[in-house]
Amino acid sequence: MSANPSVVSSNKRLDGKVAIVTGGASGIGAAAVRLFSQNGAKVVIADIQDNLGQEIANKLCENVSYIHCDVSQEEQVINLINTTVDKYGQLDIMYNNAGIIDNFYISIVEASKSDLDRLLAVNLVGSFLGAKHAARVMIPRRKGCILFTASACVNIAGLGTHAYSVTKHGISGLVKSLSAELGEHGIRVNCVSPFSVATGIAGRIPSEEEIAQNEMFVSGVANLKEKILKVDDVAQAALYLASDEAGYVSGLNLVVDGGYSVVNPSMMTAFATHFK
Ligand code: NAD
Repeated sequence: MSANPSVVSSNKRLDGKVAIVTGGASGIGAAAVRLFSQNGAKVVIADIQDNLGQEIANKLCENVSYIHCDVSQEEQVINLINTTVDKYGQLDIMYNNAGIIDNFYISIVEASKSDLDRLLAVNLVGSFLGAKHAARVMIPRRKGCILFTASACVNIAGLGTHAYSVTKHGISGLVKSLSAELGEHGIRVNCVSPFSVATGIAGRIPSEEEIAQNEMFVSGVANLKEKILKVDDVAQAALYLASDEAGYVSGLNLVVDGGYSVVNPSMMTAFATHFK
C-alpha cells in the first residue's frame, strides 16, 4: 500500500490551505486559529469580540487576519466568506465553532423561549449559514472541508441545558445531512464534540479558581485519568479533521471526551457522584 503523498510531503499539515474559524477570538476557536496557522494555513478569525480577535491576529503571523462577523446575521456571514475569497482566492476549511450557553442546571419548566431563540440563532443558525455560504464557494472547486464544534452533550444525557442540547443535536444532524449532499462535490463535513473545558463561554474569561474548579470536577468524573482536557486537545482533533490525513473522513462526530460517553449513560450519574 503506498502512502498518500499529500500527507507526507509537508510536516505543516495545512500548507496552502485557507481557513475561517468562527468564534476564533477565544477558547477552542483561538486554539484552533493558533494550531491551523502553525500548520501553514492562512486563517481568518471571525468573531464579535473585535479587540480580542484583532489582538490574536496581530500576535500571530501575517497569515492570520480578523473580520467582525456575527454568525447569526446572514449578510455578515456572506461578507465573511466573500472577503476571505477576495483576499486569498479560495476557502478550504470552514470551521463553524462560535457558540454560547445559557444558565446551567435550568429545569425545562423554567427554561425561557428567549434563551432558546438566542442559542438557536448563534449555535445552530450561525452554523447553518456558515456551512451554506462556504459550500457556495467550495462546490465549484469540488473540494473543501466544513467543520463544526458540537458538544459531548450529543452523546451524554444531561451535560447541557435543554436549549443548548437542542442546538448541538441540530449540528450533529446537520453534519450527516450535509455530508450526504456535499460528498457529491468532494466536500467533507464533520464535527468535534468536546467534554467540559474551561473557556470564556460563560461570558467572561474564567479566573484561575474557576479553571481549577472545572478541572477538579472534570478529572473527578473523567473516564481517562492522568490528563485534563484542554482547548488544544479539541483543536488537535479539529486539525486532524481539517487536514488531508482525514481525506476520506466525512459525516463523523469526533467525540473528545476521553471515552466518557462510552462508559457512562448519563451525566446525572457523574453529578450525583461528585456532589454526594
Ligand atoms: P468561548 O466563549 O471561549 O468561545 C466562543 C467564541 O464565540 C467567543 O470568542 C465569542 O465571542 C464567539 N461568539 C459568540 N457569539 C458569536 C456570534 N454571534 N458570532 C460570532 N462569534 C460569536 O467558548 P468555547 O468553549 O471556546 O466555545 C467554542 C465552541 O465549543 C462553542 O460552540 C461551544 O458550544 C463548544 N463547546 C464548548 C465546551 C466547553 O466546555 N467549553 C464543550 C463542548 C462544546
